[in-house]
Amino acid sequence: MKKILILYTGGTAGMDYTDQGLRVIPNLFQSQIQTLDPVMDVSLNLIEYEDLIDSSDINFTHWVKIITDIKTHYDKYDGFVVIHGTDTMAYTASILAFALRGLSKPVIITGAQLPLVHRRSDGWGNLIDAIYAATQDELHEVALAFNHNLYRGCRTQKISTNRFLGFDSVDEEPLAEFGIDIMWHKRRWREANYKTFSPIIPQDVNILNLVLSPGFTTSFIADTLQKTNNIHAVVFQTYGSGTIPMRDTHLTDAIKNITKRGVVVVSVTQVIEGRISSDYSNSKLSHLGVVGGCDMTPEAALAKLWILCSMGLSPERIKYEIGNSLVGELTI
Ligand code: ASP
Repeated sequence: MKKILILYTGGTAGMDYTDQGLRVIPNLFQSQIQTLDPVMDVSLNLIEYEDLIDSSDINFTHWVKIITDIKTHYDKYDGFVVIHGTDTMAYTASILAFALRGLSKPVIITGAQLPLVHRRSDGWGNLIDAIYAATQDELHEVALAFNHNLYRGCRTQKISTNRFLGFDSVDEEPLAEFGIDIMWHKRRWREANYKTFSPIIPQDVNILNLVLSPGFTTSFIADTLQKTNNIHAVVFQTYGSGTIPMRDTHLTDAIKNITKRGVVVVSVTQVIEGRISSDYSNSKLSHLGVVGGCDMTPEAALAKLWILCSMGLSPERIKYEIGNSLVGELTI
């Protein structure tokens, strides 16, 4: 029988309706999923985190704990399921994907749009699909199970607050579809990993996530880039296929200065689908020292930079790795 470890961090799945709104209630998730025991032919163990959170409260220490827990229990289990709130789930999925180096077992993250205590909760389906995915020997990656789909974790984005279709991986087809039959799209799965499992523990590094918008923020962004001096890297969310207001020399000079100081600046598009290109004169950013992030989501770019910086790599090496697909986060 397959052994699966569930790490329960919080989120709507284990929340209940209170006078102060939806809140995580200790032991509620555990009491709910006990009913699954007779219907699942897997052995489930649960670790409920002491500090259960709405995922908007997630920070550095929670991520370190999830990574450390998977590391500690790695040899004892066939797969892992992380129960997480949906608001920041795509960030955590990306961080785990980059941090869990040499992963050769499934790590599936999931949650719910409606709590398990709600009659129409989507949490049950998500949880059961996640458990099935976590039993797959040939799945060697971090994936996100939601609304009857399994997605590559580092490709996901939250796309809806009110539909059960809460997530998508726009530039990447799903890894599985859970219909009446389960379609495991194994040819989309990552190759077996023969490296030793050696997770990277994220370090306290400063990464700025800047979103460009016409008129209002340009000079604010330029000033921020000029003034901040303890920044390791920047995710720059540009327009369309990577265009910026090139006529604004305050901005272009600020970018040039910060990249000269060794800060890695990665351009990703604000648009849901598609990639950065240098087709436009306004999207040729390499002369400013900016690296193109291809079709990475902002979540994946942030996570990738965070883990690469945590490894203590040089800016040159980080820039080189940004263009490589490390865990399937971009389309070469
Ligand atoms: N606010 C919740 C959270 O992210 C939303 C959810 O879980 O769906 O924890």
